[in-house]
Amino acid sequence: MADARAAFAGIRALVTGGGSGIGLAIARRLAGMGAALTLVGRERGKLDEAVRDLPGEGHDAMACDVGDPAAVAALFGALDRHGRAPQLLVNNAGFAASARVQQTPDALWEQTMRVNLSGVFHCTRAALESLLQFPFARVVNVASTAGLIGYPNVAAYCAAKHGVVGFTRALALELARTQVTVNVVCPGYVDTAIAAGAIASIARSTGRSEAQAREALERRNPQRRLITPEEVAGTVAWLCLPESQSINGQAISLSGGEVMTG
Ligand code: NAD
Repeated sequence: MADARAAFAGIRALVTGGGSGIGLAIARRLAGMGAALTLVGRERGKLDEAVRDLPGEGHDAMACDVGDPAAVAALFGALDRHGRAPQLLVNNAGFAASARVQQTPDALWEQTMRVNLSGVFHCTRAALESLLQFPFARVVNVASTAGLIGYPNVAAYCAAKHGVVGFTRALALELARTQVTVNVVCPGYVDTAIAAGAIASIARSTGRSEAQAREALERRNPQRRLITPEEVAGTVAWLCLPESQSINGQAISLSGGEVMTG
């Protein structure tokens, strides 16, 4: 393989939710392999700070709500006009909130779908015309093991992430005769703000300590640990390589071997 530090030299990557957690780790990894990054998220200040810390050059940050189709279309239109259309698109923005189905208000259901599922659709649709112009291009979506099996108390999140997996599989077939591949990574619990939120919520609802709640999440993973954002970033980077062209429409579980039949 060519020098990994230069594998993406001259290539632009766009990462949604790139200002924190998994998205930031992906941005760092791709930048470390030579890519110029566009970080997209809600808070411009946080994104600018993240951009300053990325290795390499040519990076920028754009504030945009991925759940807003008009804002997403305007963003990608502007990138195109300025010669900054991405060749690698990583749809990572998302959020999780827990509630039993009977206690899930319409607003929570709709917002979960809008950001986690429609956000992937909006960005991919807006990027596609320019992705098809590159000699090779990649779409990598970040779903979750919750996109492959059910978990109690997060039905809206599970439904949205299952939707991302279905969207990935369908689009991969639609684009199979082109140079664009579409794949999805499905991590179990990763050590970020989302896992911290899940730990706090388990502790609140069960009366267990935060340490016990964390242990409960770790036990879901046969390796008895939370996954690191860098592990997810490594898999995303691998899927983005030119030599990963034959990997298409795959949902890759990063979960230490958690059985995906639920
Ligand atoms: P995080 O909260 O650090 O990152 C989520 C990012 O998405 C944030 O930067 C946030 O600003 C951004 N975002 C949220 N709503 C947005 C919107 N409407 N428009 C634009 N950006 C928006 O959490 P994370 O753990 O890094 O999550 C990243 C992705 O990984 C999410 O899709 C999440 O569902 C998925 N995931 C996380 C875990 C986990 O345990 N942490 C496990 C599996 C999958």
